[in-house]
Amino acid sequence: MSSKKIILDEKDLPKQWYNIQADLPEPLEPPYNTRAGRPATPEDLEAIFPKEIIKQEMSSERYIDIPEPVREAYKIWRPSPLVRATNLEKFLDTPAKIYFKNEGVSPSGSHKSNSAIAQAFYNKEEGVKRIATETGAGQWGSALAMACQKFGIECVVYMVKVSFEQKPYRKSLMQVYGAQVFSSPSSQTETGRKVLTEDPDNQGSLGLAISEAIEDVLNNKNSKYSLGSVLNHVAMHQTIIGLEAKKQLEIAGDYPDIVIACLGGGSNFSGTAFPFIMDKLQGKQPNLKAIAAEPSACPKLSKGVLAYDYGDSSGFTPALKMYTLGHTFMPGGIHAGGLRYHGASPLVSALVKHNLVDPVTVKQREAFEAAVTFARTEGILPAPESAHAIRVAIQEALKAKEEGKSKTILFNLSGNGYFDLSAYDNYLSGSMVDYEYPSEKVCEALTHLPKI
Ligand SMILES: *Cc1c(COP(=O)(O)O)cnc(C)c1O
Repeated sequence: MSSKKIILDEKDLPKQWYNIQADLPEPLEPPYNTRAGRPATPEDLEAIFPKEIIKQEMSSERYIDIPEPVREAYKIWRPSPLVRATNLEKFLDTPAKIYFKNEGVSPSGSHKSNSAIAQAFYNKEEGVKRIATETGAGQWGSALAMACQKFGIECVVYMVKVSFEQKPYRKSLMQVYGAQVFSSPSSQTETGRKVLTEDPDNQGSLGLAISEAIEDVLNNKNSKYSLGSVLNHVAMHQTIIGLEAKKQLEIAGDYPDIVIACLGGGSNFSGTAFPFIMDKLQGKQPNLKAIAAEPSACPKLSKGVLAYDYGDSSGFTPALKMYTLGHTFMPGGIHAGGLRYHGASPLVSALVKHNLVDPVTVKQREAFEAAVTFARTEGILPAPESAHAIRVAIQEALKAKEEGKSKTILFNLSGNGYFDLSAYDNYLSGSMVDYEYPSEKVCEALTHLPKI
């Protein structure tokens, strides 16, 4: 093998995203407007999203053109490298080939820029002056802050308190990119003030931060909301990852038996796996296995129910048909903040229902053990979220060794971990804890699902 890093030329940057809605076994159930007691209409969504985004959300066209200014902005870091992890393979002494797509090379440090750039562009096109959003670990906020700066839009970020305190430099990065950042629950919104009055030490959650951002948008002129995961258009923007990886694997003369990505709301998993699942749906790769790695502390696909639920903790959003642990569920304060979300993308949920995606749970310390092994073999420091995918990739490579089979494994390194070193300190000092699955809290949260 001549090179372990497979680089695509800028001219080979994909010109279209892949929309898996064209190939699903059955159409998605629509989002539901619980206040009106009917499915949500495009008009319902126009209060918070630009029209083009709503069109993409509901589209069943298989390919959608990537606008030229978005492709130009992508070129700051794309195409991203695909790397064969030969040092990790040697360390594991496995016959498996392990490839990883490195999304940690984006300026904001994660795959989230792929959708942030697109969303900022469409908002700009429709005259939006200000975008409010939430962020968990800070990667989405950083990505959107950078994208808004690029297209001249004001950016306001509600950052989940536990991460705001664990990752102060994420806040600094967003501020460098020109964003205004609030710790959520904040005193900026009614939702935030109510939570703070009842529970001043509340650690926040993504669901709560989404509620604050949406309330902010509804109360401010010329403002729109932007979501970093879960929704169909975000999943579609992320398919640039899998589409590039496919071209790169073709150059290497390979095709994966197993595709792995971690799952918070589902966007990097979707982006990595959908272009390959397309081949399975079209009957070309019947044996392809797609694995979503989720934290044991927040296992919506493995232990949740498939039901209509709100995307945020206060019930501002339309209800989505998805695997959920209940919108009021507050997961334990694991370091992989991007995976602390109660629900999973409706698209991924539909694929899980049809057994086209296998969920696997990973405990926090197992994830960090895998991350340290990866850093010591491949030299790259992974984000704690990505570490969940690495853990599963290592397990699959060891399984291949036991079975004496050569498997080709592809996983997505969704981000780098340079802002997460305090989490690594916590792991290396031996003080990191695992959170057991909180079944009682989940049972309680599931009693609050909307009745539809
Ligand atoms: C946000 C994030 C995730 C989880 O979100 P998804 O939408 O499920 O991809 C995973 N990895 C990193 C690095 C993130 O920033």
